[in-house]
Amino acid sequence: MGSGGRLAGGFISLSESVDWQQSLAESVTSAERLSKYLPIDGDMVDRVIQRYPMRINPYYLSLIKSSDDPLWRQAVPNAVELEVDAALKADPLSEAPQSPVDHLIHRYPDRVVFMISSQCAMYCRHCMRKRRVGKGRAVSRKAIEKGIEYIREQPGIHEVILSGGDPLLMSDGRLDEILTRLKKINHVEILRVHSRAPCTLPSRVTKDLAVLLSSYHPLYLNIQFNHPAELTPAAMAACKKLSDAGIPLGCQTVLLKGINDDAGVMMQLMRGLLKNRIRPYYLHHADPVQGTRHFRTSIAAGLEIMKELRGRIPGMGVPSYMIDLPGGGGKVPLLPEYIKKISRNKLLVENYEGKVFEYPVDFYKSFYP
Ligand SMILES: *Cc1c(COP(=O)(O)O)cnc(C)c1O
Ligand code: SF4
Repeated sequence: MGSGGRLAGGFISLSESVDWQQSLAESVTSAERLSKYLPIDGDMVDRVIQRYPMRINPYYLSLIKSSDDPLWRQAVPNAVELEVDAALKADPLSEAPQSPVDHLIHRYPDRVVFMISSQCAMYCRHCMRKRRVGKGRAVSRKAIEKGIEYIREQPGIHEVILSGGDPLLMSDGRLDEILTRLKKINHVEILRVHSRAPCTLPSRVTKDLAVLLSSYHPLYLNIQFNHPAELTPAAMAACKKLSDAGIPLGCQTVLLKGINDDAGVMMQLMRGLLKNRIRPYYLHHADPVQGTRHFRTSIAAGLEIMKELRGRIPGMGVPSYMIDLPGGGGKVPLLPEYIKKISRNKLLVENYEGKVFEYPVDFYKSFYP
């Protein structure tokens, strides 16, 4: 068991400009090695990673400054992951039943999630796909072929969201191949990449990668930043390369206890994203996934944070707060209640400061049809 506490300058420091594949190969994946850097309970970590793998690459490890800090919590296994909780499911969103072929989820009519990689630069302890990430072998060529075939046969699919795992953990060559195949399908109008690599392994974002991705426009890239301390100079430089290549960047933050369940932290994160030309897109309420109970907050806490954001930071920096309905019902935005009262000809509406204003309903119509 570790002593905890803050160590000056963090647990390790990092040399610059290491090749990303080399950096990945140097990731910490065993309790034994992790105990050399962090004060952990090695037996506990050993037990957890038999079920849910661990990968902490040298970059992300260098960001961890003290026991149980917001970066530690995302990266280091916790005993709670093994506790069975009847309210939590391995696949609460029914992704498997909504997969017409392996590695592809077709929930909405016009877009699919295509999970072309099972690898990530770090295995986030809060991952909603922790049932599958980092497990088994790489997604086979054949499986990807089948996914592409499915997309080709469904003219209603207008967007393909490359996800995983992390699609950017594939080599440039392989990514290029897959994007080329998708681009050739006429009804696929836009591409989206969901990746945490700019946040968890910024060295992955090379100039070559930015150029490669930009040759498939319109291509959008959504990243997951969860804490302002993740917006390091290296991460900011990675995002700049992508933005400069004309790739619109979005952020899908997950609301996580002990990490960002605080309006001040969230505000700082959203401002930081805007400063780096990353548009906050969604704030996800954490899905009820087995092994993630220690990250869960109440929906009331999420709504309270949303209320704090609105009016106090630019509207562009206010994400939509989303819950994903169990059983595959899809994502639904939740808003704090701003309408305090509705009558035939007026609304009472609360502003960001909590003051209530009267809003006149259309002169010729009442609120109710
Ligand atoms: C989240 C999600 C999408 C994308 O939804 P957007 O609201 O367009 O971001 C698509 N398919 C599945 C299965 C999803 O979970
Ligand atoms: S990068 Fe994404 S898919 Fe990979 S472990 Fe983290 S949350 Fe899960």
